[in-house]
Amino acid sequence: MIYVTDLTEYLFCPYKLYLKKIKGLPLPQTPEMLTGTIIHKIYEEVLLREKIIIDQRIDEKMGIDEIFKVLYADSKRVIKNIMIKNKEKLKSTGVDYLDLIKELQEELKEDELLKSIRIKKYMGIHGKDQNLHKNLFMMKDMEYSVSSNELGLSGKIDKLEEDSEGNLFPIELKTGLFSNGIRRHEKLQVSAYALLLEKEKGIKVELGFLEYYQVKQRIPFLIKDEDKKEVLVILEKVKGLLEEEKEPKKERKNICDRCGYKEFCWGG
Ligand code: SF4
Repeated sequence: MIYVTDLTEYLFCPYKLYLKKIKGLPLPQTPEMLTGTIIHKIYEEVLLREKIIIDQRIDEKMGIDEIFKVLYADSKRVIKNIMIKNKEKLKSTGVDYLDLIKELQEELKEDELLKSIRIKKYMGIHGKDQNLHKNLFMMKDMEYSVSSNELGLSGKIDKLEEDSEGNLFPIELKTGLFSNGIRRHEKLQVSAYALLLEKEKGIKVELGFLEYYQVKQRIPFLIKDEDKKEVLVILEKVKGLLEEEKEPKKERKNICDRCGYKEFCWGG
């Protein structure tokens, strides 16, 4: 089975995919990659726990402050647990562990305050009903696994949302800031999820999002038929690379500076 991330990797650099999948060369993590992965994990875990926390610990009588305290305390707990697990790795790559904790706590503080205001407002109108979480956050699932035997492709969608009419929206969570438009690999990734959802659910999926969660910015984009066709084209190329095991040409590009294989490919 080929993963959606193999397609994006191929788009970056076929040689990278070759090293990883055919040569089995472990990918050394850069500090940026490690920090990005940890921040991603924290936000995912916070979103995943959100529904349970709202269901079990929030009630109509609570004010915004009290709701905020409950949500924020849980977020801080998630940050602490995940950071403790990764403390040694972060230290070994020279990342300031305490600074990162402070930064994340500040980011999530603002997030939880906004959510608390929305929750209070919703409960003021509808009470605490079963649809509170779904109506407010449209959330259907986190880390939703989707695959197609027909295509030989599988992937995990960071966040899947559903509107009241049953339309599904795949969302890719991103660290950092949105700049320079939607990049080709980002569009390819979300389009691949849309295609897989269409195969699984038998519905049309025509809108996806990039969500820059640290700056609370959401970028919607249409997923057209031509985007889904590009997924199939790249998928065939990846299948070809993996079946033939032929070494692709190695090319020096700007992205090499951010690649974990840089030293292997081009020396120190
Ligand atoms: S360093 Fe450059 S050429 Fe080598 S795998 Fe990474 S992106 Fe490809």
